[in-house]
Amino acid sequence: MQPLRGTKDILPNDIHIWQRIYNISYNLLKNYGYEEIRTPLLERTELFERCIGNFTDIVNKEMYTFTDQNNRSITLRPEGTSSIARSIISNKIYSNNKMHRVWYMGPMFRYERPQKGRQRQFHQLGLECIGSSASIADIEVIKIANQILQTLNCINNCQLEINSIGNIQERTIYTEKLVQYLEKYEQELDEDSKQRINKNPLRILDSKNIKTQEILNSGPILRNYLDTKSLRHFDEVCDGLQYLNIDYKINDFLVRGLDYYNYTAFEIKTKENNQQNTICGGGRYDSLIKQIGGPQIPAVGWAIGIERLLILLKETQYLIENNKQIYIAIDNIENQNVIWNVIDVLEKYKLNFELDITSNKVSKKIKKAHQIGSKICLILYQNNMKENYIKIKWLKTEIEQKIRIENIREYLKYIKKIL
Ligand code: ATP
Ligand code: MG
Repeated sequence: MQPLRGTKDILPNDIHIWQRIYNISYNLLKNYGYEEIRTPLLERTELFERCIGNFTDIVNKEMYTFTDQNNRSITLRPEGTSSIARSIISNKIYSNNKMHRVWYMGPMFRYERPQKGRQRQFHQLGLECIGSSASIADIEVIKIANQILQTLNCINNCQLEINSIGNIQERTIYTEKLVQYLEKYEQELDEDSKQRINKNPLRILDSKNIKTQEILNSGPILRNYLDTKSLRHFDEVCDGLQYLNIDYKINDFLVRGLDYYNYTAFEIKTKENNQQNTICGGGRYDSLIKQIGGPQIPAVGWAIGIERLLILLKETQYLIENNKQIYIAIDNIENQNVIWNVIDVLEKYKLNFELDITSNKVSKKIKKAHQIGSKICLILYQNNMKENYIKIKWLKTEIEQKIRIENIREYLKYIKKIL
């Protein structure tokens, strides 16, 4: 039996990295006043259609949608922001001039062609800073994304790209100009872009096709169609990033895949040149909450794809972490209660351990302790126990010590301090 195409088990070997990402984010986000939110994985299909937009790839072809027994159209969430916007409205957790800073980490579902860094069930860590239209909010969220990657030691492998996509009016004017320009070259465009000319022309800017990119390079640039307010917002964000020493590159062709963005759009990419090199995508969405029936509440946020982040971490770092510091090897002992006494102490000092309960010889058990990278092996032989001591083997140096049973507590307390 194989898992469904595009889904993967996250095995214990990887879980510690997931937990590290979660814990680092948890602490940092708490520091910045963000609170965790968990919304359902299932939502009405209509929510995503209204939020993300009918002409986007997600709504057009990537949604996991089914009809439930009551004939309602249900979709497994393809991203987090729509659900959070819905949650703000349905829980009425909006009030005047109040900020809501929330974050989430969980599975998302998109029916895409599975490949490296692209799955059908994948995970996102995301945050939303809701309630401010000020550029300082954009700077705050970018700073946090940057900080998370820095804490994970991978910021040097990443590049922040930023752009402004203006407001809807500015985009409409620009889109007309873009279409006029591209129509002249229609035959030379890649197939996807040809399709998009009528449906979602802005997405053509995102094309990875070299010929299309060349055509775009001589075409109209979105920023030249922005008015003073949009430009000022963009300049403020850039100034803030500069002050914070956050390295960024302006990418004139950066647009996000979702309809609801305005002003700031940004991505953090790995320096690798493959199709799945975007780790984090985000931007400002001032009209989304209103669009689905709530009040006008401006917001800005981002989402990091955990699987892609994990690929980067694994490719660039040595991540093996053994959390079983102590290995316990026992050899035919008569009074097993002593094991529980030892474990009691290990538990008290929060020393992680594995009790080997196989029928293997002690020598084999020690070998296993080496293999899994434990620091110390506690060896309980019947003979030693009769003489009231147990053996301790330091696996790196192979040094053995005899510890009297009545001194185990003191000894493990000392071990806890030095491990
Ligand atoms: P792409 O252009 O790679 O399809 P996207 O624009 O669809 O990305 P977003 O909707 O902005 O991606 O999602 C934010 C992040 O979530 C992405 O930058 C990526 O890291 C991750 N992500 C998106 N789709 C997938 C997927 N199918 N599998 C794994 N990670 C994904
Ligand atoms: Mg996509």
